[in-house]
Amino acid sequence: MLDLTFEAPAPKVIQGAKEEWELVIGLEVHAQVSTRAKLFSGASTEFGAEPNSNVAFVDAGMPGMLPVINEGCVAQAVRTGLGLKAEINLRSAFDRKNYFYPDLPQGYQISQLYHPIVGEGEVIVEMAPGVARRVRIERIHLEQDAGKSIHDMDPAMSFVDLNRTGVALMEIVSRPDIRGPEEAAAYVGKLRQIMRYLGTCDGNMQNGNLRADVNVSVCRPGDYEKYQETQDFGHLGTRCEIKNMNSMRFIQQAIEFEARRQIAILEDGGSIVQETRLYDPDKGETRSMRSKEEAHDYRYFPDPDLLPLEIEQAWVDDIKAHLPELPDQKKARFMADFGLSDYDAGVLTAELANAIYFEAVVNHVEAKDGKLAANWVINELFGRLKKDDLGIEASPVSPAQLGEVVALISKGDISGKIAKELFEIVYTEGGEPAKIVEERGMKQVTDTGAIEAAVDEIIAANPAQVEKAKQNPKLAGWFVGQVMKATGGKANPAAVNQIVTGKLGL
Ligand code: ADP
Ligand code: MG
Repeated sequence: MLDLTFEAPAPKVIQGAKEEWELVIGLEVHAQVSTRAKLFSGASTEFGAEPNSNVAFVDAGMPGMLPVINEGCVAQAVRTGLGLKAEINLRSAFDRKNYFYPDLPQGYQISQLYHPIVGEGEVIVEMAPGVARRVRIERIHLEQDAGKSIHDMDPAMSFVDLNRTGVALMEIVSRPDIRGPEEAAAYVGKLRQIMRYLGTCDGNMQNGNLRADVNVSVCRPGDYEKYQETQDFGHLGTRCEIKNMNSMRFIQQAIEFEARRQIAILEDGGSIVQETRLYDPDKGETRSMRSKEEAHDYRYFPDPDLLPLEIEQAWVDDIKAHLPELPDQKKARFMADFGLSDYDAGVLTAELANAIYFEAVVNHVEAKDGKLAANWVINELFGRLKKDDLGIEASPVSPAQLGEVVALISKGDISGKIAKELFEIVYTEGGEPAKIVEERGMKQVTDTGAIEAAVDEIIAANPAQVEKAKQNPKLAGWFVGQVMKATGGKANPAAVNQIVTGKLGL
């Protein structure tokens, strides 16, 4: 496992504050479950389909239709819970959350208020290499998503698209353990990463498949510690909830604005009203959507159409036994097995597809060359793909080809400089790297006789430089450069260096 120290966050300096304040943040993250069918119907969940084409009678709220639970969605929630080291509740139940909205034809959303499927867990968020924070998960419950109202297609009419109605969501509720805007974004990023590894949510924030309600309050130094000791929310400030955030950057900006707004009110002698707010990214501010008094009374009650959900321990154990390697484990293994730095291992494991690619490269080289392989994947390959705006899946260079390039460097067959040329050839033309090196005469010259001849020639042609270099040995580098140029970059630089210093008598 990763070797981490858990540190209290550095006090957050809040711009414009006269006194000392600390931030307290809790997140409710809605993650769309990756499945082909909806939570209680067989309709497809495919994104971007023709409006209202993926709607079963039960999704449309037709009278007399009965929901039938999708086992795949339950398995995904359990898998997510296990990935967050959470308690799995073998018995959970569904409740109706009643409200009227044009895109909610049933007139209620089926959710799990009283008995969620997943209980307490945790997310470890690394804030700096080796320095981490622990965010406790309170619960994860399954619920239905609502449809979509469309107001911008016609000046006089609004439309409703029910394709998303009834799609399964996991609501992941954290304890208020997040202490700053960067930490909040890092927490969402870590959740996203874990779920993408698990294959339980694709984490696509642009499509709204991952979005967060962000609860923010401020308190005085020492108050949070009192809350931690007692778990009594009375020690914390009144919170406001910023709804439906689907960008990491906006989450950070909204928290910063909200903290400043609350502090200004408190320092002015006012008090915070608990309310729901919306973030306006154009203005960079949050504004009130509804206060606690206007808050919906959802009149939750157990859904009479559904029996309590009972799952078996053996089924949970089976899911657990088949969990994939998770990001932290993979990162720790990359560091231990291939001698990678925390940073490199972090970059390579950020996305599963990158980690898989890297491991496939390493399969073609010796373990001692892991660091070299990491450099090539991170600097050369990622850099080149970025230039062409390509994802790793579309890489023109396969892991086997890149592995061969790395192996050629490691064996001393080609220099780093030639390797870059070789990489570019493989990238644009394809082919077998070793063959290309043979055919195009790119092999590194380690034959000292040939290098000596080149050095002699350059020394003979530049007597003035030779005199200078004898006064100032640093100038030997100039000769090395000339020899490299004369040999088209194919001379072994270490050998050239040795011969140059020898011949100049340095
Ligand atoms: P509700 O059911 O009204 O949404 P919860 O108690 O379930 O309220 O809390 C919702 C979220 O708000 C949780 O993520 C929780 O951690 C967070 N939260 C609760 N109190 C505070 C507070 N004082 N400051 C910041 N976040 C809070
Ligand atoms: Mg809530």
